[in-house]
Amino acid sequence: MGRKFFVGGNWKCNGTTEEVKKIVSTLNEGKIPSQDVVEVVVSPPFVFLPLVKSLLKPDFHVAAQNCWVKKGGAFTGEVSAEMLVNLGIPWVILGHSERRLILNESNEFVGDKVAYALAQGLKVIACVGETLEQRESGSTVEVVAAQTKAIAERVSNWANVVLAYEPVWAIGTGKVATPAQAQEVHSELRKWLHANVNPDVAATTRIIYGGSVNGANSKELAGQPDLDGFLVGGASLKPEFIDIIKSAE
Ligand code: PEP
Repeated sequence: MGRKFFVGGNWKCNGTTEEVKKIVSTLNEGKIPSQDVVEVVVSPPFVFLPLVKSLLKPDFHVAAQNCWVKKGGAFTGEVSAEMLVNLGIPWVILGHSERRLILNESNEFVGDKVAYALAQGLKVIACVGETLEQRESGSTVEVVAAQTKAIAERVSNWANVVLAYEPVWAIGTGKVATPAQAQEVHSELRKWLHANVNPDVAATTRIIYGGSVNGANSKELAGQPDLDGFLVGGASLKPEFIDIIKSAE
């Protein structure tokens, strides 16, 4: 199967030039497993992407946190997939719950964005996840399946997609999913891909977990069979991000 462990760091809307440089030097100085073992991608705000890309060691790659749903043009405030490609930015995070919930991005809109970004040659970290209310009402699997379906209906080649399961109730709350809770949803997502896309995509697509991952809980989570890495918010701004990367070993 050979799903290489993947660790993404989502810096969200944080940082000054000085702070960003400090995070980069911590990363560059950190002792991490080789690129054969783990793929690490950090996602600074748009304005810092060129700086971070120019300073980071080649062990790390960069991702944008969003991009526009189609070709650029008269869309004030947006950044197009073509611009990211032009700058040599290989990855983009799409469908983060903060964009789905605060900016009202629908499943279909996220699916369109994923398809467009892939068609331009970007690799995509596509996020799905349920709210606390949805979990408590027993609809977790239904919710993440519907979010994944909107992507699957628009995408035929999954080679450049990493699926991030991020329960909304665990993001930035310090309330991490238990390894069993994460494994259960990852396994359901893999079954969904098997039944609705194809067995090869199910076997090869990396499904990563996000939601209050830190240096203390990453190792146990990483031991789950269907968990192929992490998308990390808060802790990706701190030196413990190195420990999270090391949980790939
Ligand atoms: C995220 O925003 O993708 C995330 C997982 O955040 P945190 O690790 O802070 O919960």
